Amino acid sequence: MINRLEIHDTWNGLVTGWKQVWQDCADLERWAAFMLQCDRLLALARAQSLGELEQALQPLVDLLGDLRVPGQAEVAEVDRLLPGVFSVVREVCSPGSRRSMKGYAPEDDGLPLVVMLTPDATAVRELLLQMEHYGYAFKVFAEYRAGLLAAVAERAVALVVDIGENGQRLPAALADEIARRGLKWFVMSARGDFQLRLQSVRWGAQGYFTEPVNINALAEAIDPLVYAGRDDPFRVLILDDSVTVLASIRRALEQVPNVTVRAIRQPEVILETLLDFSPDVLLLDFHMEGCNGLEVAKIIRQNGAFESIPIVYLTSETSESVQVEAMRHGGDDFLTKPISHAQLVSSVISKAERYRGLRKLMVEDSLTGLFNHVKTKALLQQALLQGERQQSSICYAILDIDHFKRVNDTYGHSVGDRVLKTLARYLKQRVRRADVVGRYGGEEFVVVFVDASLQQALDRLNSIREGFARIYHAYDEGIFSVTFSAGLAHFPACQTMMELMLSADNALYAAKRGGRNRVVPVSLSAPR
Ligand code: GH3
Ligand code: MG
Ligand code: MG
Repeated sequence: MINRLEIHDTWNGLVTGWKQVWQDCADLERWAAFMLQCDRLLALARAQSLGELEQALQPLVDLLGDLRVPGQAEVAEVDRLLPGVFSVVREVCSPGSRRSMKGYAPEDDGLPLVVMLTPDATAVRELLLQMEHYGYAFKVFAEYRAGLLAAVAERAVALVVDIGENGQRLPAALADEIARRGLKWFVMSARGDFQLRLQSVRWGAQGYFTEPVNINALAEAIDPLVYAGRDDPFRVLILDDSVTVLASIRRALEQVPNVTVRAIRQPEVILETLLDFSPDVLLLDFHMEGCNGLEVAKIIRQNGAFESIPIVYLTSETSESVQVEAMRHGGDDFLTKPISHAQLVSSVISKAERYRGLRKLMVEDSLTGLFNHVKTKALLQQALLQGERQQSSICYAILDIDHFKRVNDTYGHSVGDRVLKTLARYLKQRVRRADVVGRYGGEEFVVVFVDASLQQALDRLNSIREGFARIYHAYDEGIFSVTFSAGLAHFPACQTMMELMLSADNALYAAKRGGRNRVVPVSLSAPR
C-alpha cells in the first residue's frame, strides 16, 4: 500500500534541504543533508514499488553521488531535475494526501490546477515548489499553445502567461484564443509599465504580475476564481399581486445564472417568507389591494432581523414626490413598470451583492476572511447542539502561533500579517468543508472538527502543524518559518461549550509550557 503522507513529508524535507543548498551552495554539509533526503525518498519509492518515482529520482541521485566540488552548474542541474520529480510526487500524493486520513478526509480530491506558460522554468522554481502549500497544483509549459490546450483539457482554474519584457512572447492570435476559450488568465512580465498593462487589459487578462512573482499575491488573485462558484445563488423574493408581473419578472431573472426566485402574492405571509427564504433582495409592488408597498416596508423594517434587507419597489408611479417618500422609508431602488429587464437584473444583482458583502463583513475577519470571534462561537454552539442531537463527537482546537511577537519585531508587522493569512488559508484547505475555521483574535485560531474523534482530530492537527512548519515565509532579505501550538478538547468528554473552550485553553498552555510546536489533547494536559 502506498503511504502517501510519508512520501509527501519526505518530499517536503527534500525541498527544505534544497533551499538550504541554495542559500550556500559551497557548504558541503547542506549538500549532504539534501542527498540524504533524496536517498530517503528513493528508498520509499522502492519499498512502495513506485517505479515512476524511482525513475524520476535516479538521475538526481546519480548526479549527487558523483559530486566532488559542487557549484552553480550542479545547482542548475538539480533545478532542472526537480520539477520532474515534483510532478511525479504530485501524481502519487495528490488524491491521497487528502484521502489518506481514514474516516476523516476533506472531500476535495486533487488540487485546483494552475498552468504557467514560460520559456524559463527555472525562474519560477520557487513558485513551483511552494504552490502546493497554497493548495494548488502547478504545471509549467515552454510551448505556449500546448500549455493552453492542456489548461483547457485539464480545466485549469487559471493560466499565467509570461509575455516577455515587451509582450513579444504572446502573439495576438494566441491572446485571442485564450479569451475565446474562456480561460481566466494573468500576465507575468519583467516590466510593468502603463503600455504593457493597457495591452494586457485589452487582451482580457484578469491581473498583472511583475517578476519575481510574489506567491501570496498570485494565490490571492487566484483564490476568488476557485471559491467564487461555491457561493449560494442569490435569493430574490417578489411580492406583487399581479400574476402577469410576477411571471414576467420571474422569466427575466431566471435567465441570470446563480439566482433563485420565489414569488408571493399576499402581503400577509411576508414575514414568515422572509424568515424561511432569507432573500438577498426583495422586489416589492408599490400598489396592492388592501395595503401599499410603503406600509409593507415599514412592517418589515420594524423587525430587527430584516432591518437591512434591500427593498426595490416596483411601481407605475412616476411622481417624484411619492418616490422620494418611499425611499425615505427604507427603499433602496425604484423600478417603473413596464420594467426594463436589463434594469431589473442590474438593480437586483447590485443590491444583492452589496447585501451579501455587508453580511460577510459582519461575520468575517477582515484580514484572513475566516469567521470572526462572534461567528465562530455561534457556529461552535450550533455544532454542539447538532452533536448532542446526533450523538456524534466534535473536537475543538485552539491554535496559537509560537513567538509571533518575534516575527513582528524581526520582519515587520505586514510580514506578520501575511503569516496570519497563510495560516488561515492553510487551515481552511486542510479541513473538511463542514468544519469551522475561525480567527479568534490576534494570532489565535479555532478549528471545530465536526463528527471527528479525538484521535482523528489530533492526527489531522499534527499533520497540519508539521506542514505549516515547513512553509517558507518571505521577507525582503530571505525566508523564515513559523510554528504553532494547539490545545484540543473533545465533546462529549467536555459537556458544555464553556468546559470545552476552557479545557482547550488549558491544553494550549500545556503545549506552550511543554516547549511549543505541539498539539496537546485535553486528556493529556494538566488536570482541569
Ligand atoms: P507565544 O509562543 O507564547 O504565543 O508567544 P507570542 O509572541 O506568540 O505571544 P504574545 O501573546 O506575546 O504575542 C502575540 C503577538 O501577536 C503580539 C501582537 O503584536 C501580535 N499580533 C496580534 N494580532 C496581530 C495582527 O493582526 N497582525 C500582526 N502582524 N501581529 C499581530
Ligand atoms: Mg497569543
Ligand atoms: Mg503566540
